[in-house]
Amino acid sequence: MSDCIFCKIINKEIPSNFVYEDDAVIAINDLNPQADTHVLVIPKTHVASLAELEDEELMVKLLKGVKATAKKLGLTDYRTIMNTGKGAGQTVFHLHVHILAGKLTEKLG
Ligand code: AMP
Ligand code: ZN
Repeated sequence: MSDCIFCKIINKEIPSNFVYEDDAVIAINDLNPQADTHVLVIPKTHVASLAELEDEELMVKLLKGVKATAKKLGLTDYRTIMNTGKGAGQTVFHLHVHILAGKLTEKLG
């Protein structure tokens, strides 16, 4: 999707450091971290939100990507958050899973 910030990061139109990548997902550090570690795991295919996700293979690959990212970062204890819809705080309408570990900011703590 041409005006999607995460698609631009995936397509390397916007430079970013991938902390993990496989055939289905990338993971990047959140621009505005809410914990000591705050990473976003993002499917390479544009899907607006969990509500729009129909591809069961991608559902599995997304969760596998979350696990692999946590493992690569050496995390054993972490939270995962998916915001679905504006009312739930979703601001980027390209599906992503937040991984949060360590001390949380006051906003989330
Ligand atoms: P959500 O509120 O669940 O849609 O989360 C979107 C997240 O993307 C927020 O935590 C933002 O800080 C983060 N974000 C927005 N733009 C970027 C970017 N260019 N690079 C990394 N993280 C970003
Ligand atoms: Zn996108």
